[in-house]
Amino acid sequence: MSETIQSKENRMKQALYDSWHRQVNYLRISVTDHCNLNCIYCSASTMLPLKHEDILSYEEIETLVRVAAEMGINKVRLTGGEPLMRPHFTTLVRMIAGIDGIDDISLTTNGILLSRYAEELKEAGLKRVNISLDTLKPDRFKRITGHDRLKDVLAGIESADRVGLKPIKINMVPLENINDDEVIDFARKTIDEGWNVRYIEFMPIGTPNGDISGMVTTGQIKERIQSLGELVSYTGLEGNGPARYYQFPGAKGTIGFITPITEHFCHTCNRLRVTSDGNLRPCLLAREEVNVKDALRSGAGKDELKEIIQKAVNIKRQQHNLDGRLAPDADDRPMCQIGG
Ligand code: SAM
Repeated sequence: MSETIQSKENRMKQALYDSWHRQVNYLRISVTDHCNLNCIYCSASTMLPLKHEDILSYEEIETLVRVAAEMGINKVRLTGGEPLMRPHFTTLVRMIAGIDGIDDISLTTNGILLSRYAEELKEAGLKRVNISLDTLKPDRFKRITGHDRLKDVLAGIESADRVGLKPIKINMVPLENINDDEVIDFARKTIDEGWNVRYIEFMPIGTPNGDISGMVTTGQIKERIQSLGELVSYTGLEGNGPARYYQFPGAKGTIGFITPITEHFCHTCNRLRVTSDGNLRPCLLAREEVNVKDALRSGAGKDELKEIIQKAVNIKRQQHNLDGRLAPDADDRPMCQIGG
């Protein structure tokens, strides 16, 4: 048996478990807190950006992923901030794609720069993209994001499709009296154009006192789109996430619901986050973090890094503590640093 096959087998025996017997195999990395949009509900716009020396370098991210892969992580999502804003981002994708044990690299992006980079990202080893889009109306896009760039996002979606960064998932956060009247337009896209649309409940991240006023529940969305037909459960969409998928009869695309507020999915949680400034964050909606940047910068060896990763996994809570409309455990850390 060749050494490569042997080492692959050894690696496959590795698995990372938290204290609640959940297997953690998925790393979500915020590669920058910078963003080229200022979405009204996202905290990026109100924060002072981190300095370049405060965020993890590509080499530090690579080291971390390499060690995590030895422990059983096999999927990586790159997010931010806007990941495509970070110079030479394709280089990072290539570095991660070269790590033994990582078999799925995906990207969450607002799509604005995607048509420029789609081809080289695919070639570098990126498998698929999630694209955030909250409205199909140009004037509203400008109002929500502060920029007149809807056309660029739509071009980004087309490019991703053309080069095969699939499945493409379109993430929409419906907000009361802002874009909730468009949930049906997005649903129609699953029928007419084969889009995979996911509605995400607004979460209290970086909002004062965990305020989620304006959040539209999945139940409300289902009511609004039911006139298009009966939703049938669908299981064929590749991914690592908590979405529940459905299809309208005859549709090529799918409808997904992500329900962190009305029906949390913590029992299925398989992820560990890396903040852009180098902390391991076991839960998006809880403030605990374990610093890994200092260890990476002081030349820590594999064993020390493994201990830090295991420590972060050990403190994953059984579930987040969101309670009705208050989030006692949410903190002021903005989404762009944690990685949305
Ligand atoms: N810039 C990239 C993008 O736009 O996809 C990645 C980062 S962005 C923070 C990731 C996702 O988080 C976006 O889909 C955005 O709509 C979502 N998001 C931001 N704040 C949120 C909140 N409070 N609740 C739910 N989703 C949120």
